[in-house]
Amino acid sequence: MFRRASVAIRIGAVTVGGGAPVVVQSMTNTDTADVAATAHQVRELAEAGSELVRVTVNTDEAAAAVPHIRDRLSASGCDVPIVGDFHFNGHKLLAAHPACADALAKYRINPGNVGRGSKRDPQFAAMIETACRHRKPVRIGVNWGSLDQDLLTRMMDENSRLAAPLDALEVLREATVVSALASAARAEELGLPHDAIVVSAKVSGVQDLVAIYRALAARCDYPLHLGLTEAGMGAKGIVSSTAALAILLQEGIGDTIRVSLTPEPGGDRRQEVRVAQEILQSLGLRAFLPRVVACPGCGRTTSSFFQELAQRIQEHVRARMPVWRRDYVGAETMTVAVMGCVVNGPGESKHANIGISLPGTGERPVAPVYEDGEKTVTLKGERIAEEFQELVERYVARRFARREA
Ligand code: SF4
Repeated sequence: MFRRASVAIRIGAVTVGGGAPVVVQSMTNTDTADVAATAHQVRELAEAGSELVRVTVNTDEAAAAVPHIRDRLSASGCDVPIVGDFHFNGHKLLAAHPACADALAKYRINPGNVGRGSKRDPQFAAMIETACRHRKPVRIGVNWGSLDQDLLTRMMDENSRLAAPLDALEVLREATVVSALASAARAEELGLPHDAIVVSAKVSGVQDLVAIYRALAARCDYPLHLGLTEAGMGAKGIVSSTAALAILLQEGIGDTIRVSLTPEPGGDRRQEVRVAQEILQSLGLRAFLPRVVACPGCGRTTSSFFQELAQRIQEHVRARMPVWRRDYVGAETMTVAVMGCVVNGPGESKHANIGISLPGTGERPVAPVYEDGEKTVTLKGERIAEEFQELVERYVARRFARREA
């Protein structure tokens, strides 16, 4: 069994690796040159729970905007570290915009996109030297959509000369690992401290990601950033990201994660943060929000009241959590059950901190409530939803210690 990285890296006030809780991160999709829009989205993502937020830095205008984005966020009390994502011209932008190099908390460098042929090494070196000068950590972020083609060609050629060549997919996976590890080693030779390097090697296939990260975890102790790249939209993106990340996290692999969802047009970018949190919470690795356990409903719940209450409680819990987090210790570990009928309702409600078993079709119109496994009250009438919400509030105040002012 693998372990999480022993090396810890400080990125602003956030620790990645070294046994720290797995960190959630996300990335903006605004034009970074638009200071107001980017600062707004960074703040939204941070408020949703993103502990690091990456922005693309692709033009002079974007690089010039970064310090202003940082200032705007800091002025509004948002200290989330901003990570700069560099490709192709990162060496030039970092050299030309020292205020950007300084305002960023970390640089993401894709070794496949730092230049071809004879330009590759000096341009990579220029970026690493900037990181050293500004004392910034770096993520060596390989993506097999932009894998170093010189390296891949060389490894394919070497493989073809073997008596028993590996299949092309094996070579591609190995090239991805080698690109990440060789680039990290080169960064250290250039003076970047060992404890200033995070490694990632993102691919879009679940089995490829699992194989590549198992190899990385076995061959280095750098903190690993996990993510299935180009995961896709909607349920497909959520399911494939969850499948891939859950396997690795369960094996102790991964110190920080991003869920790369393609938003629906006009969709909410914060969805990727919520999914990342749900993955970590479902695996029992972190707690962000009280868990609302709701049965799926069936032929015993023919009215929509059950779905409405489950949704209402879910929204109530999400809306109240910032206040509960501020005022009480541990409210995020609570479980609330909203069950549709007597079949599993009382049992599941007893397992929860607080739960309600609603009347199914044909049952008496009463809803027993259970707190810490004991039936405490039976609700009935028109105000079941409001009264249950009030009971949840009272439960939090009674069950969890108040934070010191
Ligand atoms: S608890 Fe009742 S309503 Fe919910 S799924 Fe089970 S049988 Fe159906």
